[in-house]
Formats: sequence, C-alpha cells, structure tokens
Amino acid sequence: MPEPIETNAASNFVETVIVGAGPVGIFQIFELGLLGIGSVIIDSLAQVGGQCTELYPDKPIYDIPALPICGAQELIDRLMEQVKPFNAKFHLGQEVSEVKPLPDGKFHVATSAGTQLTAGTIVIAAGVGSFQPRRLALPGVEELEGKSVHYRVKSAGEFHGKDLVICGGGDSALDWTVALCEKARSLTLVHRRAEFRAAPATVARMRDLVAAGKMQYVEGQIAALHTDNHKLAGVVLKANDGQTTLQVPAGQILAFYGLHPKLGPVADWGLEMERKALKVNTENFQTSVPGIFAIGDINTYPGKKKLILSGFHEAALAAFGIQHHLYPQKRQFLQYTTTSPIMQKRLGVGPDSSEHGSH
Ligand SMILES: Cc1cc2nc3c(=O)[nH]c(=O)nc-3n(C[C@H](O)[C@H](O)[C@H](O)COP(=O)(O)OP(=O)(O)OC[C@H]3O[C@@H](n4cnc5c(N)ncnc54)[C@H](O)[C@@H]3O)c2cc1C
Repeated sequence: MPEPIETNAASNFVETVIVGAGPVGIFQIFELGLLGIGSVIIDSLAQVGGQCTELYPDKPIYDIPALPICGAQELIDRLMEQVKPFNAKFHLGQEVSEVKPLPDGKFHVATSAGTQLTAGTIVIAAGVGSFQPRRLALPGVEELEGKSVHYRVKSAGEFHGKDLVICGGGDSALDWTVALCEKARSLTLVHRRAEFRAAPATVARMRDLVAAGKMQYVEGQIAALHTDNHKLAGVVLKANDGQTTLQVPAGQILAFYGLHPKLGPVADWGLEMERKALKVNTENFQTSVPGIFAIGDINTYPGKKKLILSGFHEAALAAFGIQHHLYPQKRQFLQYTTTSPIMQKRLGVGPDSSEHGSH
C-alpha cells in the first residue's frame, strides 16, 4: 500500500464504498444495509449490472437459488428492487482511479469524474475489471479520439449536419444509425460481417433507409483515416472482397466494436494479487489490507468459483467483517430477516417500519 496521504475530504465520509455495480456489488448494499451500514457504489459503466447487463442481458440464468429461470437483466432489476430500502448512492460512468490509506485508518477514494470520498471501508466488487470500449486500431486515431472519433454518444446533437461514419453490427451501431440517419448530412454504416447482432426490426429499418437512398451500407472496414489540418476529413473503406476501396467523406466516426474488461487501477492499489485476482481470506473476504474487502469475480482463494451464487455468499460474510472493522466494540450476532424487528425496520417492512435503525 502507498504511504498515507493527508486530505480534507472527511466531509464526504461514507461507511463503505463499493467499487463495481455488478450483481455482487449491488447485493453488498443489501447485506450492509441489513446491518445498518450505509454505502456508496461506483461503476465505470453508465448503467448497473456488470457482466449480466453488458454481456448477456437476454440470456436466462438457471442457477440462482429459488429462481429456476431468471433473465440476466431481470436478475439485476430484482437486485435493484431489493436494495431500494437502503438508499445507497450510485455514481455511474466513473472509474474509481485512486484508493489511498489515510493516517486515521480510513481511505481516500477518487474517481475519473472527480468524485472524492472518505471511506471507512472499501469493498472491491470489480469483476473482471472495468469495461473499456474496443478502440479503432488505425494510425493517427489517438489525436482524433474524443473530437471526431467516439466510442459512445454523449450528445446526439454533435452529429447533426455532419458526414457520419458508424462502425459495428450490434444494437448500439444499428440503433444510432437509424436514429441519426435523417439528422446527419450523410451516413455510412460499416460492418465487417453479413450478420448483425442487433434487433431484426432495426436491421430491417436500416435496409429500408439504404433502399430509399438515405444512407449507405458497406460490408468491410475502415482502412485509413484522412485528415486535413489535424481534422478528420474522410475515411478509406476496404470492402470484404479485399480489393474494392471506397473514399467516404467523414467529419465524425462512431465506432461500436463492443467492450473488453481491463483490470485497470485495481492493480495499482498495493493489494496482494494472484493471477490478476485479489487474494482474500474466506472468513470475511478481507484483502491483504485491513479495511479493504474483495468479493465476486475479482477475488481468489482456494476453491474459488466465479459464480454469482458464490459472490452473494461472500457479500454476506464481508458485511460482518466490515461491521467489525468499523465498530470493533460491537457484539456481533446473527439475526434473521423473518424475525428481527430491527432488520425489518431497516427494510421498511413489518409493524415498526417508519424509520431506519442504526447499527
Ligand atoms: C456469457 C456469460 C454467462 C454467464 N452465466 C452465468 C450463470 O449462468 N451463472 C452464474 O452464476 N454466473 C454466470 N456468469 C458469470 C457471472 O456473470 C459473474 O460471475 C458475475 O457477473 C460476477 O459479478 P461481479 O459483480 O463480481 O462482477 P461483474 O459482473 O464483472 O461487475 C463488475 C463491475 O465492476 C466495474 N468496475 C471494475 N473496475 C472498476 C473501477 N476501477 N471503477 C469502477 N467500476 C469498476 C465494472 O465496470 C463492472 O460493471 C456468466 C458470465 C458470462 C460472461
């Protein structure tokens, strides 16, 4: 762990910061909430759900206890419903870039969007890492990224009236093609394969727009970028036959080549690791640094299995470890949600549910 730093961010104190809003990170809010511990959860993606939402939202999951079949997105929606009573704060679309110990045993947490927090404890539920867009692999692309080469749409207005090239064959590429076709000055969709991974109705709409002469579709890929005075002016497209090339005017490019996970800053926080995973004990899933816990796909221990079910168990035991770290004097005992009035109060159910209890 790096040397402790001095900071005055104590006003933003939170008992627990959860890094990663995949299924396991979300469930950690619940297990902490039952013990009366508040949390803030941060994810680099714009939406919650981790791999379930990003990689397989429509696929059914069959091994969640008591849910014989549950869609991956449905699981996330149910988890979000379950954690509602605890009013956790979500910071989405920002990567946790810094975790540093403070002299008083707390932690300074900072994100790529400038959020700064002081945390009593941290739970890393970072899965396989933070998802990053696959970038265009072309010479000169770096200096255009964020100006005329984009991997997501921040403001659709910036593409209106422009010569637009959209790359990809998934939902994002097709949805934006259809949405921007009549707003852009010209629009070319470029996709490497004949098959699309988008909703059939959107693909059909795109083909109608091509037939109506409102846009063009090229089965191939971008071979080169043309710039004029450091500004994007056009692209050279190479068709799949490997021979035909096409010059297309381009003021803006939207590339939707999917996302890939990057372990990223987690590896720089001085925590003991083994093969890109954080080593934890199996009593409370604490890492090599007291006060920092790791659950879900990001951790490793003898017998570890990367299953949602295992992550849920880890979240339950980590919550007790966190409670002990924050309040070492407090006597710990197991309570059941079926019979504990204090837990029912925290959940907003049962006869005495008008206010939330404290730990
Ligand atoms: C196709 C597929 C099918 C699967 N089917 C099943 C199944 O049937 N049953 C089952 O049990 N499991 C299944 N899994 C595995 C399951 O999805 C994972 O075990 C589960 O998603 C792990 O949850 P998690 O919360 O630990 O991590 P993730 O879901 O990976 O979420 C981690 C989150 O952390 C965020 N993050 C990482 N680093 C940072 C950072 N520095 N700052 C901010 N945010 C960060 C990421 O953006 C991500 O959203 C499947 C996986 C795949 C790919």
